[in-house]
Amino acid sequence: MGIPPLQGNSREQDILQPRRKIIFHALRIVLGLAISLALIQLKFDFIEAFFYDIRIRLRPSPTLSDEVRIIMVDSKTIEKNKGIPGFPEHAELLSKLKTAKPKAVIYIRGFAPLRGIENQYGEEDRRGFFVGDDSSKARFAQAAKGLQNFGMQTDVMERHAEESKLSLSPPLDEISVYSGPKTADKNILAKDGVSRRLLVTYQNQKLMHPEIASLFNSDLQNIENIKGRLNLFDSEQVYIDFAKPGSFAISKFEDIQNGNFDPGLFENKLVLIGDDIGASAKDYVSTPFSRDANMTLTELHANMFETLIRNSAPQPSPNWVNILLTSIIAILTINVVLTLRPLFGLLILGSTALSFTVISLLLFWPFGVWIGMAHPFLAIFLCYYFFIPYRLIIENRRSWELFQKHQLLSQVEELKTNFISMMSHDLKTPIARIQGMTDLILKDTVTLSSHQREAIDTIRSSSSDLLSFINSILNYARIESQGVELHKQSKDINQLLQEVIKRHEFLAKVKHMKIVTDLEPMFSISLDPDLMKQVFSNLLENAIKYSPEHSQVQIKSSEVDGVVKIDFIDQGPGIPEDELPHVFMKFFRSKNAKSSPVKGSGLGLYLAKYFVELHKGQIIVTSLSGKGSCFTVELPTS
Ligand code: ADP
Repeated sequence: MGIPPLQGNSREQDILQPRRKIIFHALRIVLGLAISLALIQLKFDFIEAFFYDIRIRLRPSPTLSDEVRIIMVDSKTIEKNKGIPGFPEHAELLSKLKTAKPKAVIYIRGFAPLRGIENQYGEEDRRGFFVGDDSSKARFAQAAKGLQNFGMQTDVMERHAEESKLSLSPPLDEISVYSGPKTADKNILAKDGVSRRLLVTYQNQKLMHPEIASLFNSDLQNIENIKGRLNLFDSEQVYIDFAKPGSFAISKFEDIQNGNFDPGLFENKLVLIGDDIGASAKDYVSTPFSRDANMTLTELHANMFETLIRNSAPQPSPNWVNILLTSIIAILTINVVLTLRPLFGLLILGSTALSFTVISLLLFWPFGVWIGMAHPFLAIFLCYYFFIPYRLIIENRRSWELFQKHQLLSQVEELKTNFISMMSHDLKTPIARIQGMTDLILKDTVTLSSHQREAIDTIRSSSSDLLSFINSILNYARIESQGVELHKQSKDINQLLQEVIKRHEFLAKVKHMKIVTDLEPMFSISLDPDLMKQVFSNLLENAIKYSPEHSQVQIKSSEVDGVVKIDFIDQGPGIPEDELPHVFMKFFRSKNAKSSPVKGSGLGLYLAKYFVELHKGQIIVTSLSGKGSCFTVELPTS
């Protein structure tokens, strides 16, 4: 018997149920919103930066504008020049470079003769700066004179009223010094020391990168046109649209110094001159590609200029988008955790996280839209771990209730079975007595009137119907209490069939029916003869019971591939197709049978199937409505 559903079906509950559902839905939405709003108040810059870096790494490198060139002093240059190139060597370089007509030439942190601030540089900073006497400096200044937009980059920034701070001492005083510092998240945001942004303005003054980049992209002359600007302290900054390390064309210092280059390479380009000699840790930066400082400062600046020339800085999405996404994901997670099956729920949450990651990546590349990922991801984790214990408590309570109900039902079932078997036992004795008495009266030589004889016959057949009904019920009770045991013996199936047929001959005769047999001789097999006789009796009795008068029942036995088959074929009304799957269920009687005078308990086929399956066999029915039925018992020979 099935366990009834948990919810009752009363009218009151039917009305309450939808209302409760709406309240629960509303509560989940409110909780989701509350959690996401609380979460948004917290900053997760480190996690956000981690997701940002992943996107930079995963996307294909952006196509460069081809406006930026790098000239690098490296260890080979030092070897060839027998030392770090000083002012004389740089003067040579500039005079050669002049012939190529670059549009702008910028020295990246090349030397530190800045008036008034030399002392601000520590010993380590000064390593790698090139030096020289006044005459070589003058030569250098002379060489620089003919170059357009020539200047020195410095990390130092002029505040208001510090305008002369960035000028050089004579004879270099005519050389421009540009303030264009690198940034690193040391004390703010992710605090991981990674360079991710560039400064566009400081105290409303345009800095080096937009100034020089506007020579290549005239849109930038108006700062307002620069995409992705955000205010940070006293400055406006944008995120750097990094190209993969090694993307920029790098020329060797000594090649240019010796005039060994194609002038077309530098014509109208922005040339950055820097070094890669490992003199100071400050010459290298950590980038989203790697936390080990493995990008040269010069390449970082090339990336900064490129970002502005292409005007392609990633644009952080507005805060409301972040709030909306976090809320949707929080509400979804709460609903999934509270309503779906655990495995399915995990699958849904996993695919939500994956799709969200893919969408974030696709928006970042190629559109440069940067949506926050930290808050939505934390919303998934927080809601999951917050609501799982609640779900577990509900599930536990439900299974406890089910367990209790199951126990109660088992007890009721046991009581019922015991009651039925008790009742049946007590009924069997009086019926046997009635049968005995009727037999006695029938055998008596005292002549009975035809009416009396008919009445006695009816009593006899009714009591035998009742007995067979009680026997079925008793067998059913035995099955339910697992009390059926097999007492196997080696028996000839055909002999069992003959016995059963003999017992039913009278029944067939009453209906003028013929029982035709086609029994193949075979070896004895091991079976419980009592149970198997009951199976055959039920099938033959049904075949006779449900068939019309003057029809015929055929019984066949055969052995095929180690399986004994016994067919009971009748010419009865057959069983409608929609009822076929139910005929072996306990207490099932077809609609036709119920409305006909044919008596039955609906237990015959249930018992037959049970007994056959105890023998590891099976029972199959094929039937066509109006044509007859065929019940086949298959038993293994071993
Ligand atoms: P019952 O005591 O009603 O005969 P069974 O379990 O033996 O119970 O059979 C279940 C139902 O299957 C019957 O009520 C009847 O509708 C159908 N059935 C069984 N055998 C036949 C048959 N040979 N021909 C037609 N219907 C049958």
